[in-house]
Amino acid sequence: MIRRFYSYYLPHKRLFILDFSCAVVVAILELAFPLAVQWFIDDLLPTNNWSMIATVSVALLLLYILSTFLQYIVNYWGHKLGINIETDMRQQLFKHVQKQSFRFFDNTKTGHIMSRITNDLFDIGELAHHGPEDLFIACMTFIGAFWIMFTINVKLALVILLAVPFLVWLIYFCNIRMNNAWKRMYREIGDVNARVEDSVSGVRVVQSFTNEDYEIARFTKDNQNFRHAKISSYKVMSYGLSGIYMMTRLIVLVVLVLGAWLSFNNQLSYGELVGFVLYVNVLFKPIDKISALMEMYPKGMAGFKRFTELIDTEPEVVDQENAIKVKNLRGDIDFHHVTFGYENHQTVLKDINLHIDAGETIAFVGPSGAGKTTICSLIPRFYDVNDGAITIDGLDIRDMTKQSLRHQIGIVQQDVFLFTGTLRENIAYGKRDATDQEIQDAAKKAHLEAFIDSLPKGYETEVGERGLKLSGGQKQRIAIARMFLKNPPILILDEATSALDTETELVIQQALNELARNRTTLIIAHRLATIKNADRIIVVTDQGIEEQGTHEELIQKDGTFAKLHRVQQ
Ligand code: ADP
Ligand code: MG
Repeated sequence: MIRRFYSYYLPHKRLFILDFSCAVVVAILELAFPLAVQWFIDDLLPTNNWSMIATVSVALLLLYILSTFLQYIVNYWGHKLGINIETDMRQQLFKHVQKQSFRFFDNTKTGHIMSRITNDLFDIGELAHHGPEDLFIACMTFIGAFWIMFTINVKLALVILLAVPFLVWLIYFCNIRMNNAWKRMYREIGDVNARVEDSVSGVRVVQSFTNEDYEIARFTKDNQNFRHAKISSYKVMSYGLSGIYMMTRLIVLVVLVLGAWLSFNNQLSYGELVGFVLYVNVLFKPIDKISALMEMYPKGMAGFKRFTELIDTEPEVVDQENAIKVKNLRGDIDFHHVTFGYENHQTVLKDINLHIDAGETIAFVGPSGAGKTTICSLIPRFYDVNDGAITIDGLDIRDMTKQSLRHQIGIVQQDVFLFTGTLRENIAYGKRDATDQEIQDAAKKAHLEAFIDSLPKGYETEVGERGLKLSGGQKQRIAIARMFLKNPPILILDEATSALDTETELVIQQALNELARNRTTLIIAHRLATIKNADRIIVVTDQGIEEQGTHEELIQKDGTFAKLHRVQQ
């Protein structure tokens, strides 16, 4: 884990070395100053030599300035190092999350991803800066200060050395307690974030059920759990810090008393006593640093652990070796004994066999939950089949690259997602390098032109949170315009018009019919009237594919479809 953490320093080696060397020089100067004071009192003062004192003072001043400058560098460049590492990790995490398969998002709450990308990375950044540097400097100062203290007075140094194991034990003990406390706190803040994400994105549902109080109550519970967790983290930390503070003051007191006794017995000069007390303080600095690390290390490492857990989640659907980049598929789709389930214990599709001709328009109907959407999600490999195979133009889709396969398939769903940005950007999402002319043509084909022309800012109108609110039908037309730009040989319309009123549906249906021309089109439809002209209708139920045929054939057969048809009439 630690080695992995350090691997993130590699791209910033030079910054690290610069920061580290400055920190080492600062530590050496810190170690030298008390010696200078001791020498000043014992050797320089008795000489009464003012010019010498002035020279020494100027030298000290220069050294202080140097030390100040170096400390500035350590602060600034050191934090820069931490921020760089944090940014790298955030970049890596975002890239990784983008690559994940659908099942990952089925099982992961957005709020938890948000906590990883913000809170956790803040702590990791802090640790990245302070961790190795402070630890090294602390050890160096510690050993250096002891070494000098032993040269000044062995008895006094021994007394302090005896106290050190207690101090180390205290720090170690607190460290373990803190680790657990921080871990709990992070779990709780993840829950709080997930709850906020849920209630805010579902706020329309919340308010339509007037369940605000219920949401507030649930949030209060999570928020209070977080409060308890955070308070107890700080309680543990405060205990630890107070214990350490008390211990260090006791040590100073013992040094003073013992030093006074040694001085009465002419075993210690005044300068040595002052020097010694200063060294005890120099010694406490690394202990302070270590107690700060005590807070930083478990927090940062707990965050890093969660970070690596996420980074190590391999995307489920990946390209095989030797995967082929497909282009211009005709659109012959075959399901060969396809079996699939989202969970191991439950099969949604069992032994499905299906042939769709290139250019055919196929409609799927049947009760909700039967698996129509699932069938369609398997074609772009949002999920991989558990058994059997799906081929397009005779080639197993697992032998194609994911990207080239998905380039060949367009999906329009009931919910259209619009990104923050302009109308132009939202339409061009179908083809990132589309020209203005192409975008306008697509809008025209999607029957969007009149609407866009009526807007004062036209294509540059902002949509979404900060701008224009669009109706379901308008959003749907943007989705259709995206498809005209993408121009894929295979088209999937998953209840694309189900949420619209009949009048709007008619307009959109026109656009959709145009879109479907010359493509293999799979339509999942709710209202049977919309699929009358399909080349073939497939009835899907819990039992699988129950019947198929043209509209007339199925009506004549007088089976499930005919029954559904009578109900809707
Ligand atoms: P349809 O589109 O015919 O209404 P779906 O294909 O959406 O049906 O769903 C088929 C079955 O799979 C249902 O039982 C549904 O609960 C289940 N299901 C759908 N999506 C998921 C998912 N992401 N994770 C787990 N189960 C799912
Ligand atoms: Mg569905």
